Amino acid sequence: MKHLLVAGARPNFMKVAPIMEAFRVREQKQVLLVHTGQHYDEEMSDNFFADLQIPKPNLNLEVGSGSHSQQTARVMTAFEAVCNEHRPDWVIVVGDVNSTLACALAAKKLGIHVAHVEAGLRSRDRSMPEEINRLCTDAISDLLFTTDEMASENLRREGVSEERICFVGNTMIDTLLRNIDKALSMPLPTELEVREYAVLTLHRPSNVDSKPKLTALFEALIDISRSIPIVFPVHPRTRHNLQQFGIEDTCGDSRIKLIGPLSYLPFIGLTARSLLVLTDSGGVQEETTVLGIPCITMRPNTERPITCTMGTNILVGSEPERIRAAVLAALNAPPRKNKMPDKWDGNAAMRIVDVLLSEPGALNEHTQKNILAKKRNGDAASQIVEGVLNEHSVSSR
Ligand code: UDP
Repeated sequence: MKHLLVAGARPNFMKVAPIMEAFRVREQKQVLLVHTGQHYDEEMSDNFFADLQIPKPNLNLEVGSGSHSQQTARVMTAFEAVCNEHRPDWVIVVGDVNSTLACALAAKKLGIHVAHVEAGLRSRDRSMPEEINRLCTDAISDLLFTTDEMASENLRREGVSEERICFVGNTMIDTLLRNIDKALSMPLPTELEVREYAVLTLHRPSNVDSKPKLTALFEALIDISRSIPIVFPVHPRTRHNLQQFGIEDTCGDSRIKLIGPLSYLPFIGLTARSLLVLTDSGGVQEETTVLGIPCITMRPNTERPITCTMGTNILVGSEPERIRAAVLAALNAPPRKNKMPDKWDGNAAMRIVDVLLSEPGALNEHTQKNILAKKRNGDAASQIVEGVLNEHSVSSR
């Protein structure tokens, strides 16, 4: 069997890292890693391969930036040629970026089986480009690997048959559990002169592409920084708009510290030692759940509602008053404990690879075994994180 695993942009790299490792452990040599080149520079791509020890991609499609349609079309054209040349049995796509949909489409039209990792997440907000990618990728994939039962349920409600759905856990959390110790050994960014701070990430077009909206957000954030200094590793898209809209200069006198986008280990190290996180990222909502850091999500909805039901995440939209109130509430709240949703135990990638390598029909038996092991693994993972945080004297939350 030949497998072709696709990565395209920053949030994909932490998802493919443990899958590549699981293929290695299972001695499956017929695996090609394809980088579409959607993110391509050191800060948004190369550093992650180094930090996460991901093998060098076998192929790089070098599609670069462009509009959604341009990027999707370029990936499809280049990936179709790759599929024709290598004829894989399975194409594995992760997440919800343009490369995810483009490669699923190209493969499926050539009659190749497609597996989607992180399937079934739904924000129910079709103005979000990622939601379109999620819906379309899931509609055509043969195997849908989900991170939680809510995602599996979303798929069932859309009429997906049970044998296509496989609840395996969260590969992004596999990577977090594997690297948290190393991340906490990283020094904090040298620019940071404080030990009590909030972390900010912001890059969703709905927040950063409109001048009035971004200006109002920053007025609120500058105000909040009077109560708690904010460290802001700035996404390239956001940096461009902050400069274009003349907002970057207004941060100069505030306690918002703008730094470049961080590589994975320093970012997790920074986040795990923060008092709270302000974000519009998808993955960061999940990582803060496992780290037990209060997360204030500046979006009206989330495709990851489990982070809210676990109690670490709160949705505040982009209204300044709600953001301010949530920050004050988080700063005054009693310490929290980290939360470990079912199967977020470090073994998701291994489950995925075992399913992909199993004979047809072995899936049900495999799923049964995982259900039995679930509670034990969940408890163990929770203890690992708590143990590591204590060892590094990160105050218990
Ligand atoms: N991340 C990072 N450096 C940063 C900001 C984020 O390594 O400066 C990581 C973060 O830990 C998470 C992933 O990037 O693993 C999330 O990616 P992003 O927010 O770009 O995408 P989304 O999850 O919103 O699709």
